[in-house]
This record gives sequence, C-alpha cells and structure tokens, in this order.
Amino acid sequence: MTAPARPRTSEQLIRAEEPVLAHNYHPLPVVVARAEGSWVEDVEGNRYLDMLAGYSALNFGHRHPALVEAAHRQLDRLTLTSRAFHNDRLAEFAERLAALTGLDMVLPMNTGAEAVESGIKVARKWAYDVKGVPEGRATIVVAAENFHGRTTTIVGFSTDETARAGFGPFTPGFKVVPYNDLAALEAAVDDTTAAVLIEPIQGEAGVIVPDDGYLAGVRELTRRAGCLFVADEIQSGLGRTGRTLAVEHEDVLPDVLLLGKALGGGIVPVSAVVGRREVLGVLRPGEHGSTFGGNPLAAAVGTAVVELLETGEFQRRAAELGVLLRDGLTDLTGRGVTGFRARGLWAGVDVDPALGTGREISERLMREGVLVKDTHGSTIRLAPPLTITAEELRSALGALEKVLV
Ligand SMILES: *Cc1c(COP(=O)(O)O)cnc(C)c1O
Repeated sequence: MTAPARPRTSEQLIRAEEPVLAHNYHPLPVVVARAEGSWVEDVEGNRYLDMLAGYSALNFGHRHPALVEAAHRQLDRLTLTSRAFHNDRLAEFAERLAALTGLDMVLPMNTGAEAVESGIKVARKWAYDVKGVPEGRATIVVAAENFHGRTTTIVGFSTDETARAGFGPFTPGFKVVPYNDLAALEAAVDDTTAAVLIEPIQGEAGVIVPDDGYLAGVRELTRRAGCLFVADEIQSGLGRTGRTLAVEHEDVLPDVLLLGKALGGGIVPVSAVVGRREVLGVLRPGEHGSTFGGNPLAAAVGTAVVELLETGEFQRRAAELGVLLRDGLTDLTGRGVTGFRARGLWAGVDVDPALGTGREISERLMREGVLVKDTHGSTIRLAPPLTITAEELRSALGALEKVLV
C-alpha cells in the first residue's frame, strides 16, 4: 500500500510540473490554491491581491456569489446536451446577450480563439454570399501588434515572431496594416475585403488605446467600403473600460462583436460571436459548430454574467475607480513610470528599464503581495477585478510605488 500523499509545498509543486507540463508558459513562482473576490491565497496561506484577474476573465472577481450560485444550480440539473438537441437555457442567454450589446444574433462558442475563428468564417461566408466577392478571394484586414488567440490561422496574421515562428504554413487572405492609422486602413480595403478585424484597445500589445476618432473612423470607412467591422472585445469588453463595450466610448456599433473571457465568469470557458442578422444569418445547419458551444452550464453562467452587467454597477465601478488608477499612475510618472495608457480599470504601465524588466517588476510586486503580468519589455499590465475596492486599489498602487521608488 502506498502512503497517502502529503500536501506538497509551492516549491515542490513547481518542481513537479517541470518534467510533465509543456513549457508554453513562464508563470510567476506562486502556486494558488484558493481565491475569493480580489484575493488569491497560495499553498502556504500567503495572500495576494490579484491585479491581473485572469487577463479579464475574472472581471467580477473570483467566485462571485451570484455566478457560483448560477453554476451550482445548473450543475444539479443539466450540464450538456450538445447542439443535436435544444436546451432550456440557451434562448435566454442569446436574447439577453444580444439585447446587452445592441446586436441581433448570437453564435455561442467556448474560447476566445474559437470566437475569432468563427468570426473569420462568418465574415468570409458573408463576403461570398452577400457582398459577392469571387470564391476564394475574400480578404480580412487586421492590425499590426494584434492579439486574437493561438490557432494556426490566427498566429498566421500575428506580427509577434514568438507567437508565429515555427508554426507555418499559414492561412492566406489577411492583410496587416498599422494600428490607429485610418489612412493605411483605407488604402488596404478594396472590393475583396470581407472585414476589418481589430481590437478597440490592443490588450496584449500593452493596452494601446487608439486616438479619439479612430473607432468611429473604422466604422465610417467600413460602412462606406461595404465591408464588415469585426471588433474583438474579448479582453476590452464586458465592463473593463467603464462601459459594457470599449467601442461605446465612441458610440460605435460594429457589425460583429467577439466576446469571451469574462463571459464565462471565471468559471467555465464561454465565448460568442454576436452580430447583425444579415451577417450571422448566413450560417446554415452543418456549416459550423462546436460540441460544447452553448452548453446549458455555459449558458447559465453566461446569463448570470449578462445579468450582472445589466445593472450597470460594474461599468460604473470601472469608470469611477479608473480615475483613481489614472491619478495614481500620473503621480508615479517620472518616478519609475515613464508612461502609461489607461481606460477604466485597465492600464499598460511602462516602467523605466533601468529599474528592471517587466518580469522583474512583477516578481518584486509578488513579494509585496500584488500579482500582475508583464507584457512586452518593461511594460506591466494592471487589470484588477471590477469588484476591487478603492482601498485595495490604493494598496496596489502603494506597492507599485514601493518597488519603483
Ligand atoms: C485572450 C484573447 C483572445 C483569445 O482568447 P482565448 O480564450 O485565450 O482563446 C482573443 N482576443 C483577445 C483580444 C484576447 O485578449
């Protein structure tokens, strides 16, 4: 008989991963065992303020009671049917998500990358069936420094060599233009263009907020050119920027919206393509699908997420606390911070490279009990749960000041 396994320390667990887990990540050396709200606790019982929030998958914090309750209730009733049959949760999820976004139809998927892939397929189908692009000629215009996920098609139009190199050959039909450059976009769009696919704020690139007028310009240009505006709001959407959607900052409604991350409430992967009826209506039975997409557990959690957003409370918190975040970062500018970009509770902070890489700053913050993630070089990203309190946010800014000044 083997002895019962003794609980292992953080150090032992990190070492145990080494030989058996693919090395596609380089996590901070913290092993999380439980979490609630804005706080996580490691194996040894040390507590950390979570200023990453699962890359915005945890907009409502860890284990939000309303979301956990919705999941529990659904777990006790029905979890999966496949789309071979209807389930009693999907209609309400689609109705309420469409109403929340101001669009007509929903295509439920699971991960963000799947929503992007599905959006690309729908845009191409629309180009052939509705716009009349000759078969096989449809193009999609994307922005440099984009991040849309990790599938072979998606990394094929990435400009990040680490994400791309070694994974070709890639899917043709994409044109890359500089972000935040309407003239370049205009020059790239032609009769074969199915869609312009952009992030309204580029998250992984370092929270790059485009100039005022860019999103409205993309809307105007795509309408004039007769192609679709596909907005990837997988990270920027669902309250993060102080509005339900980041495109609302310019009163813009895209033709197709890609959602994910927070749509699953940090509990299950839930993503969706949400779009105008003329666009999503091109799909016929058998042309696209997903075994798990729209499953009753995902629909129940997704509906509970939409319900939280219908109150407007989280958008309001992100906007109000965003002022505190911006003020704190302004105060640190010139004192270790060389620049930052922020909208709502979301910021990309450039740290003086003389003080360390983003990774080193993240490690120092970890030792101060604050978890963040670096993006490129000396940039760190702050994206706390939208449930964070002003006091918690101030303490995170205090920790940042301590490691920088
Ligand atoms: C995270 C992200 C994705 C990919 O989502 P996954 O769930 O990791 O596949 C796509 N687009 C944007 C903007 C993202 O931030």
